[in-house]
Amino acid sequence: MRFDIITIFPEMFAGVFSGGIIKRALDRGLVRIAVHDLRDFTQDKHRQVDDRPFGGLEGMVLKPEPIFRAVEAVREDGAGRVYLLSPQGRTLDADLARELAAERQVILICGRYEGVDERVVEHLVDGEISIGDYVLSGGELAAAVVVDAASRFVPGVVGKEDSVKNDSFAGGILDYPQYTRPREFRGMKVPQVLFSGDHKRIERWRRKKALEKTVRRRPDLVRNRTLAPEDRRLLEDIPNERKDE
Ligand code: SAM
Repeated sequence: MRFDIITIFPEMFAGVFSGGIIKRALDRGLVRIAVHDLRDFTQDKHRQVDDRPFGGLEGMVLKPEPIFRAVEAVREDGAGRVYLLSPQGRTLDADLARELAAERQVILICGRYEGVDERVVEHLVDGEISIGDYVLSGGELAAAVVVDAASRFVPGVVGKEDSVKNDSFAGGILDYPQYTRPREFRGMKVPQVLFSGDHKRIERWRRKKALEKTVRRRPDLVRNRTLAPEDRRLLEDIPNERKDE
């Protein structure tokens, strides 16, 4: 799986992939990330990537020619999928991250200023990806988020298969609460059930907590889902949960 990021600020990516799970995936060759300076695809002596918008309004717009040239240069055998980071795009979620992880090459174009020339949207990209309903100054942070979220679904990137499976959203609901040492901190205790050694009971408790959190915080995630009979039973049981803790 290979990501190609096209940006006018390649230096912004120096630190972001240099630690943790993504760094390990890069070292093990599970994921490749190439960052390309859009200015390298200009053909004028000023290496100009932006220009004033037609119609006379304020700001600058990224020009189409260097973006088309950059994509044509980095795309492998016409196989790469091309996405523009944009607040107007499909909002990134676990489903989209999983879809991207199944691609061989994902090319991410980072916009800047007022955005990019619309011909890029209409004639070059396969889609636009947003990381939320707010406007960033540029697509670089969004591209880093996309690369991180998608890489987690590349087989082998996250150590134990389980950790991705139980992650929030991956299984359609939020993750269960986690605790570590100490058992008690400033009077705050870790739920007793976690020391029971009874793995079935612990699993049941975790599922119940995950369902409860989801129903309370993100009812939209379960609203149109048919819950398994066991999950329905666990939810009905929630008022009695204190007995388990
Ligand atoms: N004028 C544009 C609009 O309102 O749709 C916003 C331009 S924004 C200042 C500059 C660039 O930041 C965009 O071209 C895009 O690449 C990136 N960007 C901003 N918000 C984003 C978001 N929520 N998700 C992904 N990319 C975003």
